[in-house]
Amino acid sequence: MENCLFCKIAEKKIPSTAVYEDDDLYAFKDINPHAPVHLLVIPKQHFSTLSDCTLEDAPLLGKMLALAPRLAEEFGCAVRYDEQGRPAAGFKTVINSGPDGGQEVYHLHLHVIGGAHPWRGER
Ligand code: 5GP
Ligand code: ZN
Repeated sequence: MENCLFCKIAEKKIPSTAVYEDDDLYAFKDINPHAPVHLLVIPKQHFSTLSDCTLEDAPLLGKMLALAPRLAEEFGCAVRYDEQGRPAAGFKTVINSGPDGGQEVYHLHLHVIGGAHPWRGER
């Protein structure tokens, strides 16, 4: 897709800090992080929004989601359990879709956000 920022990032025409890559996906650090860990997972195939995906894209979407906890583990924010079995740490997975959904870049991307609080905007 011409003139798509994240297509250019996936093609390495625009620099980014890569954290994962395979034939289908590319993941990199968000340039303006909201939290200590803020990564973006994108498909190499261009979809403008989640609304452009169909049920046939479920394997690709599932792969994006399944990558999130693996990246969280690598960046120290995966959910873990204390001796009483209580969950600790953790991360958010977010896909903003369209103007009302707060989407700014029109290439599908999954935010993976975590790390110690406070995050941006929190006290
Ligand atoms: P959206 O609001 O579309 O869900 O999120 C777009 C995200 O892309 C934002 O968090 C923003 O900081 C990030 N972003 C925008 N431009 C760039 C860029 O050129 N490089 C990187 N690494 N992240 C970007
Ligand atoms: Zn694109």
